[in-house]
Amino acid sequence: MTLHALREQVCELHAELVRYGLVAWTAGNVSGRVPGADLFVIKPSGVGYDDLTPENMVVCDLDGVPVEPGLRPSSDTAAHAYVYRHMPHVGGVVHTHSTYASAWAARREAVPCALTAMADEFGGEIPLGPFARIGDESIGEGIVATLDGHRSPAVIMANHGVFAIGADPRAAVKAAVMCEDVARTTHLARQLGELVPIPDADVAALHDRYRTAYGQEVTA
Ligand SMILES: [Zn+2]
Repeated sequence: MTLHALREQVCELHAELVRYGLVAWTAGNVSGRVPGADLFVIKPSGVGYDDLTPENMVVCDLDGVPVEPGLRPSSDTAAHAYVYRHMPHVGGVVHTHSTYASAWAARREAVPCALTAMADEFGGEIPLGPFARIGDESIGEGIVATLDGHRSPAVIMANHGVFAIGADPRAAVKAAVMCEDVARTTHLARQLGELVPIPDADVAALHDRYRTAYGQEVTA
């Protein structure tokens, strides 16, 4: 994929955050790693969703420093950069304060795996990451420490919101959308009783089946 195509993709994926109701005002951001380069593309800071264009996406190095003149990158850039530096398989990162996932964050609770859709997509609970102040590397450290070796592509950072990762930006956006979906259902279920987690062996079987047998066979 060319840099221009990645700028277009990252820009367009921000519309998905709006479409699925994951963001308010200018909160939330998507980034994508530039294939074959130590660079990534991310949303500019404080720019409204209607004003995003492929051209005003910001290209940064893996220290989160812009490599060309233009708008300042998202205030969450350091966290994205830390993930790209420490998780080489990650090609996309998304951050939102989506409502129900952030309600779990406000209670500092992981989301228990009580739905087959969670077992499919997350392979277990959606883990809780540490509380971290914005402005240094501690958010990135918390994301990587929580997700490294975990099946889940999303983490709920304590008192904050969601960071989701994927092999590419679209996969990361999907994880953010699915995270909010199951956070909402489990939150609602909690209102009338305790959640009943799915046994570990069933979670593992569901996750494995989803990864290997779901969807259409791709023929070359
Ligand atoms: Zn945030």
